[in-house]
Amino acid sequence: LRVQPDRVVPTVCPYCGVGCRVDLYVKDARIYRVMAREEPPNHGALCVKGRFGLGFLHHPDRLKTPLIRRRKGAELEPVSWDEALDFAAARLARIADASGPDALFFVSSAKASNEENYLMQKLARAAVGTHNVDHCARLCHSSSTAALSRSLGSAAMSNTLEEIGLSDVILVTGSNTTETHPVVGAMIKKAARNGAFLIVADPRRIGLAEAAHLWLRLRPGSDAVLFGAMARYLVESGRFDRAFVERRTEGFDAWWESVRDYTLEFAEGVTGVPAARIREAAERYAGARAAAIYWAMGITQHSHGTDNAQALINLALIAGQLGKPGAGLNPLRGQNNVQGAGDMGALPNVYPGYQPAADRQVQKRWKALWHTPQPETPGRTMTEAFESIGAKDGVRGVYLMGEDPITSEPYQDHVRAALEKLDLLIVQDILKNETFPYADVVLPAASFAEKQGTFTNTDRRVQRIRPVFEPPGEARPDWWITAQLGRRLAARTGRGWTEGWNYAGPEAVWEEIRLALPRMFGGIDYARLEREPLRWPCPHERSPGVSVLFTDRFYTPSGKARLLPAVWRPPAERPGGDYPLVLSTGRVLYHWHGGTLSRRSDLERAYPKMKVEVHPADAERYGISDGEPVWVVSRRGRIQATAWVTDRTPEGVVFAPFHFAEQPANRLTLDAYDPTSKIPEYKFAAVRLEPA
Ligand code: SF4
Repeated sequence: LRVQPDRVVPTVCPYCGVGCRVDLYVKDARIYRVMAREEPPNHGALCVKGRFGLGFLHHPDRLKTPLIRRRKGAELEPVSWDEALDFAAARLARIADASGPDALFFVSSAKASNEENYLMQKLARAAVGTHNVDHCARLCHSSSTAALSRSLGSAAMSNTLEEIGLSDVILVTGSNTTETHPVVGAMIKKAARNGAFLIVADPRRIGLAEAAHLWLRLRPGSDAVLFGAMARYLVESGRFDRAFVERRTEGFDAWWESVRDYTLEFAEGVTGVPAARIREAAERYAGARAAAIYWAMGITQHSHGTDNAQALINLALIAGQLGKPGAGLNPLRGQNNVQGAGDMGALPNVYPGYQPAADRQVQKRWKALWHTPQPETPGRTMTEAFESIGAKDGVRGVYLMGEDPITSEPYQDHVRAALEKLDLLIVQDILKNETFPYADVVLPAASFAEKQGTFTNTDRRVQRIRPVFEPPGEARPDWWITAQLGRRLAARTGRGWTEGWNYAGPEAVWEEIRLALPRMFGGIDYARLEREPLRWPCPHERSPGVSVLFTDRFYTPSGKARLLPAVWRPPAERPGGDYPLVLSTGRVLYHWHGGTLSRRSDLERAYPKMKVEVHPADAERYGISDGEPVWVVSRRGRIQATAWVTDRTPEGVVFAPFHFAEQPANRLTLDAYDPTSKIPEYKFAAVRLEPA
C-alpha cells in the first residue's frame, strides 16, 4: 500500500559530518521514510544511520519537562520553564559571585546548530565573563585544529568532497571511512575503481584497506614517523616540490632537523612497514597531479596527536599538494556540526571566526558588538575543566548542552567522581543520557527535526535544517533556552545589555553572526540557503563560496605556510607485564558515539551488543573463543564483551567500540593528554584479556 505523506521536509542527516541531505516523509506527525536527495554532498546516497537511525525522535526517553533538584540528595522534580530558568540562572550567578566567572564551564554541542553554538559561547563570554567554553572537538579533532591553525592559519578542510573524483592519489589514514563516514568511504572506493591510486595507512584491516592499492599496516601510535620519513625521503631523493616549498612555505630548516633521523629503515623499525612500501607511498603521493589526504581520529586521539597531524601537513607542503583541486588536507569531521561549533567560537581560545581570545583588539570588537566587557585570558579546555573539579580554584558549575561526559570522556570512574563534586550541573539534552542522574537542572531540548537553524558540514557547507513537527511536551530549541538563560544571567551578573538576548528566532541570531563575521558569512543568508547550501568563505551576496582554500596564500600573517617540527614520541602507557596488549577504541557502522541516539533506533537490533576484535594468535594465547564472553582489563577497570576473533586487528591489539554504556570502553582508557591540544589518548592503552 502506497502511503501518501502529509509533508516531505528537506533537511540534513543528524549523524556525521558528511552532512547528507535528506527528505523526511511525514505522516501523522511521524517520519516513516528517509530518502537521500540527488544533490551534493551525497548525490542520492545514504548510510544506515541516516536511513534507519531516526527512531530516537519518538523514543520514550525523550526529555519533555524541565526538572530541578532543589538540594543535593533530593529528587529531581518537574517545574515550569520560568522556575527552571530562574533557578539555573540564580545558581550560576551565585557561583560566579562567590568564586569568579572562571568557576563555571560551558560545554557547547556539535549536535546543535550554528546559531545555538554562537549563543552558548556568547553566554559564557558576554553574560558570565569567562572564555571557559568548549565542545566535543576537544575529544576528536583538536589535534588537527591545533596543527592546521598554526601551520596554515585555518583548521577547516582545504578542499571539498566533490573533488574526491579529481584526485589521482588518495591517502587515507586513521579513518575507518566506510564505517564512520560511509558516504565518503563509498566516494573514495568509487574514485579508486575509476583509476585513483588509493593508499591506506592503518593498523586494522578496515574496509578501505581491502580496496587499497597500497596498504601500510603501521603499528599503532607510529604515524608521525611514517609521514616524517615519507617527507624526508622526498627531499633527500629530490622528488619534493622545491618551487612550492621555496615560494609558499617557511621553517624548512627547523623541520628538516626534526626528521633528519627518520630514514626509511628507521621508519620500518618503528612502524613495522617495509621501507620499500613507505618509499612507494611517498613517490606515488608526491608524483601525483593532485593527491588528497583524508584523516580522522586514528591520527588525532593520541598523546602526540598534534605531532601526527603536523606530520601530515608537512608531507603535503613538501610535496606541494595544497591549493589545487583534488589535493589538500582534509580532516573528516565526526559530528554533523562540529565544523560549525568551532566556526562559532565554542572554544576556549578563540571567538567566532577563530579570532584569538587573548588579542586585545579582538576583545574590543566583541565588546562593542555585545556591549559587554570581555574576559582577558583564554579559558580552560574541556579536559582541563574536568580535571580541575574539586581542586581549589577549580570548576564548580558545568552547563552541558548535548554532551554526555560519562560515556565520552576517558577514565570513566574519574569522571563520575568529578561530577559528584560539582556544586551545579545543568544537563540540556533531547534524551536521558548517562550523565542525567548527576544533574541539578534538566532542560529538555528540541531535536534537529523540531527546529530551524543551520549546520556546517565537514567541507564548510552551510545547510538549513527545518522543523518536521513540534518538540515533545515542553521541550524547546537550544537557541531559545540559551537566550532565555542569557537574558536572566545578564540581569543578575550586571554584565548588562539584556536586550542583546531578545532574538525573534534563529534567523535573527544568524544575522548577528553575519554582521560579526562578514568575510566568512557575509554572503550567506537564510533566503539564499533556502535555494542552495553555501560554503564559507562567502563574503558577499554574489559570492558562490570558495571550494579550494590556499590557492594563492595561506591564512597566516606572512601568507606562507609554516613547516614545523613533528617529533615522534611513544604513547603514554606501554603494554607489558600484566597488561601486554594495546587497546584502541573507535566506532562501528551501526552506532554513533555514546549510543544515545543510535541505540534508541532500529540500528540497535542490527548491532545490539559490544564486540571486541581479538587477533587469532592472541585468542589462542589467552584462551579466548570467537563469540564467547571475554573480560578486557586495564589499570583503571574492566568490562565484559563478546570476542570477535579476526585478523582485522593486528596481533597484540584489541579494538573496542565505545557505544555501549553498559560495557563502557572508556572505563579502560586513560587520562593522558596531548600537551598542545589536550586531546585524550583514546587509541592506545595497555590491557589484558581474560576468558569470562
Ligand atoms: Fe548521515 Fe553521515 Fe551516513 Fe550521510 S554518511 S547518512 S551524514 S551518518
